Amino acid sequence: MSYIGRFAPSPTGPLHFGSLLAALASFLDARANNGQWLLRIEDLDPPREQAGLKEQFPDILEGFGLYWDGELELQSERLEHYEDALKQLIDDRNAYLCSCSRKEIQQRTDTSVYDAHCYLHPPEQTDNCAVRVCCKDSLISFRDIIQGPHAYNLAMSSGDYIIFRRDGFYAYQLAVVVDDYLQGVTHVVRGSDLLDETPRQIHLQQLLGYPTPAYAHIPVANNLEGQKLSKQTFAPAIETKDAVELTYKALEFLGQSPESGLRNAAQIELIEWAIANWDIHKVPNVPGIQFLQEQ
Ligand SMILES: [Zn+2]
Repeated sequence: MSYIGRFAPSPTGPLHFGSLLAALASFLDARANNGQWLLRIEDLDPPREQAGLKEQFPDILEGFGLYWDGELELQSERLEHYEDALKQLIDDRNAYLCSCSRKEIQQRTDTSVYDAHCYLHPPEQTDNCAVRVCCKDSLISFRDIIQGPHAYNLAMSSGDYIIFRRDGFYAYQLAVVVDDYLQGVTHVVRGSDLLDETPRQIHLQQLLGYPTPAYAHIPVANNLEGQKLSKQTFAPAIETKDAVELTYKALEFLGQSPESGLRNAAQIELIEWAIANWDIHKVPNVPGIQFLQEQ
């Protein structure tokens, strides 16, 4: 079986220990399966983007010995593919225009589930509209390689969700599904903070006639307050000079029990050991683990 995995960071904040976990786990799973590992920068949200970051990501990954296959892809250069998929969904009546502002929705309903107002009453003007996908009573179930079986009723959990925003940007859900399909991705290994996004992605794959890849969601690293390490919680940026120490810690976090002698190994040696000894079934099947940061 051919295996294609990927790492897809967004340049909204620097790479931190949580990013390293996702990069390393997806890389090791690909390499241990003699697969390819792709790098895609998810730069679809320019207002939230931090200048200069996406240029740094490739250097940092190389500094950690994580070399990708093929060309680095930038989502900002792939808009025509998202447009094609959007058009297909609208033409097939699986998606519709929505002119509601957040305020209008809040005034009509007190839940976070969209009330399908614009499906029932299509907007007269097409400018300044979002596009939503019809969920009806879609039941989506899947078996995550690490987190086990999951089932969702989309109509109850999210309602008709947005794939194109009123401010003119494509939503993450659509872009990630189109890219995974066009790049032939067979395995998605990423943080469990994205577990709840998975049913909408599988739903879109079904509507667009794409195959569903295998999913494996690793635990996220939480700080002492139980918050996920992220830009918002001021997670420190990872630096290449700490590659061995951080990679060793990441392997421990991922349940791989690296030999203590590897603490003093060269980064390339550590990565080679990790590929040869990678066992995805040793990754803890919990959503998050507290990670003690040494400052
Ligand atoms: Zn609407």
